[in-house]
Amino acid sequence: LMTLPIGGADMPVVISIYNAFTGLAVGLGGFVLQNPALMIAGMVVGAAGLLLTLLMAKAMNRSVTNILFTSFGAVPRHRQGRVKGSLKPIEAGDAGVYLRYASSVIIVPGYGLAVARGAQKLHELVKLLRAAGVAVRFAVHPVAGRMPGQMDVLLAEAGVPYDLIAQLEDINADFATTDVALVVGANDVVNPAARSDRSSPIFGMPILNADQARKVYVVKRGQGKGYAGIVNTLFYADNCNMVYGDAEAVLVQMIEAVRGLGSAAAA
Ligand code: NDP
Repeated sequence: LMTLPIGGADMPVVISIYNAFTGLAVGLGGFVLQNPALMIAGMVVGAAGLLLTLLMAKAMNRSVTNILFTSFGAVPRHRQGRVKGSLKPIEAGDAGVYLRYASSVIIVPGYGLAVARGAQKLHELVKLLRAAGVAVRFAVHPVAGRMPGQMDVLLAEAGVPYDLIAQLEDINADFATTDVALVVGANDVVNPAARSDRSSPIFGMPILNADQARKVYVVKRGQGKGYAGIVNTLFYADNCNMVYGDAEAVLVQMIEAVRGLGSAAAA
């Protein structure tokens, strides 16, 4: 019941605090049963959960009390969907060609990349772009995906070198001087409403400033919203194009387009 009014992007913090409560319950159980192993294990889980909760709340620029006791997820229906601009779809191949001729690219991975199991293909694309002289880096948001650290694990599993992966605070200032921001299956973590729209339920949450890049490509399947269930104003911005499709399939088409340029140049 306590969880019902909480929603949107605050859920990771709530999950983490309940995890800490589990440890607390186990510790108290150990106290009642006079079982030192349960007491110690419970305290370790409780303390780890509490630390994670505090770190995540800090990363989202909110206090734990504020998260638990305000109706964060209650988005008035009339506030949703009021955005200026239009969605501008382009073909994956065309976006691939643009990426190949950019000098700097920052990739923002999100939950959709994990769903599509596209990390290997993304790494393949990055290798091709880097071989062609494009400076490519990854920007990872602390709550991207559906569990803490999910994007770091995903990229590490795909063999992406650690030095190409940067955390929000280290890379955010660089978007303004970057040619292309490639957003792959991310949504809430790049929603500029968090910076500018006081009425937005995610107002105040630090986001990756992908909108400040000269050109933004967003890879997603359609008009689906992110976890917070709100409209993303980035998608309607003048410098943004939508590349619709499953992330893995889109990445395959981008790879083909970049490879095609290589063989055309060789011919
Ligand atoms: P979001 O949930 O905001 O957005 C994911 C996007 O991916 C959707 O808009 C969806 O659009 C797209 N997508 C889904 N499947 C595919 C696919 N196969 N191919 C391409 N695109 C796809 O993800 P973010 O990572 O940006 O943000 C994470 C959110 O989850 C935050 O709100 C965070 O608070 C929350 N959260 C995070 C937790 C954590 O610990 N990290 C835990 C719990 C919640 P479409 O349907 O149109 O394709």
